Amino acid sequence: MAVEVKMPQLGLTMEEGTVSKWVKKEGDSVKVGDILLEITTDKLTSEVVSEEEGTLIKVVAQEGEDVPVKGVLAYIGQAGETVGAAAPAAAPAPAAAPAPKKEGKTTVAVIGGGPGGYVAAIRAAQLGGEVTLIEKNKMGGTCLNVGCIPTKVLLHSAEALAEASHMADLGINVEVKGIDWNKVQAKKNAVTNQLVSGVTGLMKANKIKVIEGVASFASKDTLTVAKKDGSKENLTFDKIIIAAGSVPAVPPIPGVKENASCVDSTGALSFETVPKSLLVIGGGVIGIELATAYSRFGTEVTVVEAMSKLLPMMDGELTAQLRKMMEARGIKIMTDAKVQSVEGGALTKVNVEVGGKVEAFTAEKVLVAVGRRTDTEALNLDAVGIANDRGRISVNDKMETSVANVYAIGDCLGKVMLAHVASAQGEIAAENALGEEALYDGATNPSCVYTDPEFAGVGLTEEKAKELGIDFQVGKFPLMANGKSLIMNGGVGMIKFIIGKEYKEVLGVHILGPRATDLIGECALAIGMEATVEDIFATIHAHPTVTEAVREAALAAEKRAIHIPNK
Ligand SMILES: Cc1cc2nc3c(=O)[nH]c(=O)nc-3n(C[C@H](O)[C@H](O)[C@H](O)COP(=O)(O)OP(=O)(O)OC[C@H]3O[C@@H](n4cnc5c(N)ncnc54)[C@H](O)[C@@H]3O)c2cc1C
Repeated sequence: MAVEVKMPQLGLTMEEGTVSKWVKKEGDSVKVGDILLEITTDKLTSEVVSEEEGTLIKVVAQEGEDVPVKGVLAYIGQAGETVGAAAPAAAPAPAAAPAPKKEGKTTVAVIGGGPGGYVAAIRAAQLGGEVTLIEKNKMGGTCLNVGCIPTKVLLHSAEALAEASHMADLGINVEVKGIDWNKVQAKKNAVTNQLVSGVTGLMKANKIKVIEGVASFASKDTLTVAKKDGSKENLTFDKIIIAAGSVPAVPPIPGVKENASCVDSTGALSFETVPKSLLVIGGGVIGIELATAYSRFGTEVTVVEAMSKLLPMMDGELTAQLRKMMEARGIKIMTDAKVQSVEGGALTKVNVEVGGKVEAFTAEKVLVAVGRRTDTEALNLDAVGIANDRGRISVNDKMETSVANVYAIGDCLGKVMLAHVASAQGEIAAENALGEEALYDGATNPSCVYTDPEFAGVGLTEEKAKELGIDFQVGKFPLMANGKSLIMNGGVGMIKFIIGKEYKEVLGVHILGPRATDLIGECALAIGMEATVEDIFATIHAHPTVTEAVREAALAAEKRAIHIPNK
């Protein structure tokens, strides 16, 4: 019986391909491995080889035709065999026409000056918009002031302290006297302030008007801005981009609100002194990063997580390795454990239900890191009909809300709360607002956790690939076998590739090891370019670097690793 030749999926983001050239013609006999045709995507050209022996009895998709992934291209069968007229491959839905460019400058308002808002504002200005940015607090938003940057300053000091304590291993004799907390805090504030003033400078350089105040919708195209001096102004715009971000969520745990020793991530960045003990409620990225930093500073740290594993969105195998490393360093970690209540006292008492029993733990400080909620209450979304789910704004992949000419990006969507996602969406919203055509695709979005060692992933985890029923294979490379890692951190960690079994496309990469958050860039590019492992093999990686281990892990997926035995 005739078998179908289908359009392959050459990468995670590939949706369709174009038949550029048929190498075999109808009636030609074909062997397994013969090149049948060439296809192109917007990123690459590739050959489709036969997996069957027989005759090419029918070509369904002609040269120049676009065919969706898994759409039928041809049939291979016995000479003389016929197949019914195959339905032509479904044509992709026509792209909506870009918004027409109007005469004169398009006026654009951006609500919020975080990494979503300020990037959107710059891109809108680059495209010729007359841009006004309204910020109620400080430019830079959560990321620069109380998020990404200040946490990384603390983590950098903590890492330096840990390294200094091991200098003797490197033959360097130093006396480590501990930390000067005021200087750590001063460094954190200096870095933050420098970056905030850099963003302020970028606003000026791009001729973006910045108004300090709280914005809310008066109508679909008019914002009321309540300014710092108490005055109010109504301003009308052609386009409005909402980038209002998020704030820490407060869980309804009895005693949390009432107890001054319970702090959110913002409070935990600016403790007056390093606490002797810290109980962290929540084993997500923020909880784990601050647990890592304070444990390095000498705090006795306990992490309580309600789910069965830490960092639920990261690869399970590497998360389990990270957990062991953290525990070996003295951090107490409890999963499947729920905080019942918090009580005051000389030390704060935290009652935790674990293993069917309620146990009491005490700590000087309690960090509540159970997630964040969107900061959209002041916006008046419902009054103007901007669709949202309890404050989480709904958008399509052009970042358009349900109201024409209003866009939303970043944390205020309540989905992936990461600075680089907010910025990517900001550029897309600005481009669509200014009449370009741009779509958001999260396939290349890396997740990074700044632990020790660092942890990063992009694409599908092994668990997700299984859940989706994808036929995949795994390649793993232990960093113990990588020279540079051995020098940097004793070879702790691993790199893991998830690749499609049929077409060998890179589906996901997960790295636990030194500089994982930098290494993941190559892997995101590979996914974005719809690379196969062959593309990674063909790229020469410098020696000695940790990037060599990225290539080795890809090789391991095909049992071709050089520096470990392939099992
Ligand atoms: C402790 C911590 C560590 C983090 N670490 C990382 C990390 O390492 N990497 C990473 O990618 N992400 C990290 N994040 C997440 C990252 O900070 C956010 O995803 C990012 O800041 C979201 O950008 P945004 O522009 O959407 O919102 P925000 O940065 O929250 O900015 C929103 C801005 O809008 C303003 N605003 C809100 N409402 C109004 C209004 N009505 N009128 C005027 N202004 C308004 C706010 O004042 C705020 O400045 C971290 C977050 C925290 C809390």
